[in-house]
Amino acid sequence: MTRSISILGATGSVGASTLDLVRRNRGEWQVAALTAHSNVADLSRLAREFEAEVAVIADERHYDALKDALAGSGIEAAAGRKALCEAASRKVDIVMAAIVGCAGLGPVMAAIEQGTTVALANKEALVSAGEVMTAAVAKHGARLLPVDSEHNAIFQCLQGGRMEEVRTITLTASGGPLRTWTKEQLDKATPAQAIAHPNWDMGAKISVDSASMFNKGLELIEAHHLFPVGLDRIRIVVHPQSVIHSMVEYRDGSTLAQLGPSDMRVPIASCLAYPARMETPMDPLDLAAIGELTFHAPDEERFPATRLAREAAQAGGAAPAVLNAANEVAVAAFLGGNIPFSRIALMVERILTETELPSPPRTLEEVLRVDEDARMRASAMLEHC
Ligand code: NAD
Ligand code: MG
Repeated sequence: MTRSISILGATGSVGASTLDLVRRNRGEWQVAALTAHSNVADLSRLAREFEAEVAVIADERHYDALKDALAGSGIEAAAGRKALCEAASRKVDIVMAAIVGCAGLGPVMAAIEQGTTVALANKEALVSAGEVMTAAVAKHGARLLPVDSEHNAIFQCLQGGRMEEVRTITLTASGGPLRTWTKEQLDKATPAQAIAHPNWDMGAKISVDSASMFNKGLELIEAHHLFPVGLDRIRIVVHPQSVIHSMVEYRDGSTLAQLGPSDMRVPIASCLAYPARMETPMDPLDLAAIGELTFHAPDEERFPATRLAREAAQAGGAAPAVLNAANEVAVAAFLGGNIPFSRIALMVERILTETELPSPPRTLEEVLRVDEDARMRASAMLEHC
């Protein structure tokens, strides 16, 4: 029996890993929508290869180019934010939400409103919308399957017990490429150094987040919404080998962990096949060859991001959306060579503490307004850097 899938952010790193699995099981999948921001060449090539029903380019200026690139294929071409949401709300068995940033929130909500199963990689959407998204999931009978490797690990470990029997959840963190750097060295880290992740091959934004530990901060908030065990029961441990992807400890003292290669195709496969398992081209786990698994506590002096995220999660309301928006602006500024690496966390902290927080958003529109407003404040702050 074939299943249908739409992939939001098809030209990115998670998009490519998802399409790799679909390609290996071509006869089992029917591709409905594929979307991208502005890369017409890749989007049209993928749409043709996977015989998609519709290809959507978010940046409207590329509509004519997409239409030309798809001419004669019978594939519908569309452009713009509205088209992105329409594509996300097509009836399919599963939507892969792999857009980066809060830009993916509207489409994710559109899929949820159809009661669709959403494989969620786009953590910024859940961090920003929090309760608005989880309430919509409940209201529309949708389902979120976590793609993020840590959350997917926890999701798998939770099959071994009940939520009310969980004592703690531990998110593992690789620590990123700058893990051992001193404060002085961190000040001088370049975008190329921050992106050079030792274990994972990912998009630029999440790679910088990984280097700053904002990725783990966002994941803490993500876990808080996906697994309601209470913020004080969610821990973070640095584990540079990235073999254990996260753990769940139960009240009887048993800790279940999920182990595997640092390859996003593993958690993606777990979502695509859920609740079954599918074949992937992974080498068997060879612990003897790996030799050592090490762990240490995060250093919040050098990497304040996890503290800031915990504080934002504790404050609740608009705080996580503000944290996320400020981080997105700061990361873009760092990647553009406009601010030093350590200014990212400083900027986020200043936006959170020096400006008055808006009232808690209750609808998608209100979340988007909080996001927009925090972006404006962060951009204004950049001008004075
Ligand atoms: P990426 O930069 O490689 O790809 C992002 C995709 O989103 C691209 O297809 C791009 O065209 C699209 N996009 C970007 N901006 C957009 C916009 N404004 N409107 C519409 N589309 C837009 O990113 P990625 O590494 O694949 O990450 C995607 C998401 O998955 C992120 O939220 C990230 O945190 C999460 N994630 C990624 C990994 C990983 O290994 N890459 C692991 C866990 C979670
Ligand atoms: Mg992760």
